[in-house]
Amino acid sequence: MTVRTRFAPSPTGLLHVGNARAALFCYLFAKGQSGQFILRMDDTDEARSTAEFADAIKQDLAWLGLDYDETFKQSEHFDKYQAAFEDLKARGLVYACYETPDELERKRKRQLSRGLPPVYDRAALQLSADQIAAYEAEGRTPHYRFKLSGQPIIWDDMVRGEQKIETASLSDPVIRRADGSWLYTLPSVVDDIDAKISHVIRGEDHVTNSGAQIEIIEALGGTVPVFAHFSLMLAADGGALSKRLGSLSLGDIRQSGVEPMALNSLIARLGTADPVEPVQTMAQLIDGFDMSRLGRAPARFDAEDVTRLNARILHEMPHETAAPRLADMGAPEAAEFWDGIKGNLTRFSDVQDILRLINGPVTPVIEEADKDYIAAALEALPQGDLDEASWSQWTQSLKESTGRKGRALFMPLRQALTGQAHGPEMQHLLPLIGYDKAVARLQGREESQAEG
Ligand code: GLU
Repeated sequence: MTVRTRFAPSPTGLLHVGNARAALFCYLFAKGQSGQFILRMDDTDEARSTAEFADAIKQDLAWLGLDYDETFKQSEHFDKYQAAFEDLKARGLVYACYETPDELERKRKRQLSRGLPPVYDRAALQLSADQIAAYEAEGRTPHYRFKLSGQPIIWDDMVRGEQKIETASLSDPVIRRADGSWLYTLPSVVDDIDAKISHVIRGEDHVTNSGAQIEIIEALGGTVPVFAHFSLMLAADGGALSKRLGSLSLGDIRQSGVEPMALNSLIARLGTADPVEPVQTMAQLIDGFDMSRLGRAPARFDAEDVTRLNARILHEMPHETAAPRLADMGAPEAAEFWDGIKGNLTRFSDVQDILRLINGPVTPVIEEADKDYIAAALEALPQGDLDEASWSQWTQSLKESTGRKGRALFMPLRQALTGQAHGPEMQHLLPLIGYDKAVARLQGREESQAEG
């Protein structure tokens, strides 16, 4: 059996972190089994689905590195849903109902007031031909329900273990609205069969749906996939994921400078007892992924974790990964440069700030009390090409000539050369700043934009 999973977003909005987690699980599981990952656009709601949202979803998946093997839109499959519908209807498994939403609501209230579960009473199955004709004459069009068997549905869920849904305690699900539009259930099942989906991996909010869906799959003669329903994600404080990063779209998170592998590393591990670690490549994440590690407790998402992991991903990023991005920014591509600065980054774009320290414009900071020291430093600056050894030669000789040490030795030089009190190690910066600019800065000459 080829493992085939699908991520099935509705292009009626932007993806959020929770959606990314569903997509990531589908992807990691499929790839870990040498299987295929499919993107299905659930766009049966034609009024709310847009091409822009569909494009944004594809961009988000590309950014995360979740490359799909196939993609299709449900709106291309209306004929398939119609055929399945006709088939089920001809066999009495789908039936027409004429109740208005108000009538259904009144029924529900009556049941509740009598202490009964608010399950649809199948009154539509008792309608006579005359009653149906009368409703139709009134202008009512039917909605349709799938007739559940009343039997328990049992499956072995990859995350939740044995699951049992008593279909006798459920209302027959509406699969088609009175205006002819499809609810999610039937199209999803038809496509899962058609696309030979072997594993349906989705959030636990779909557990009950799975009961009805398994019956429909069986009624249509399909093979029931393996189900995995993972727990939902909550904010770190246990509340809904509504604040800060968790409620932002993936596009916003991307814009904020988060590395996709920082987000992937985190959400692949949330909800497991395994430690969250920065993982550099998707291949490593695939290797380390084990669905059986997912627990049933809600996964807690803390935006601070993303920030922390992001920095760690950068600090550990191999030079060959960084090099093309450095080239794009016009930064030096040499391994020495990357190794010298990566520890100072919290976002990759911080490289720009470091480039500014090197290329300028820099406003040298020279304290009154350090004027003589900086003048001595200018005298002692090694002539010509500066390299990685220059800084220690220079500061060693200054230490001997001035008796300064520690912060008093280094800080005035850093502030004169970069205008800042913090930054990457000067040993790496000095050769990049170069002799001429170093001289100018030690002389306290402010650089204009043009020079920088
Ligand atoms: N479009 C559905 C949703 O976003 C898909 C659920 C599923 O994976 O079956 O909830």
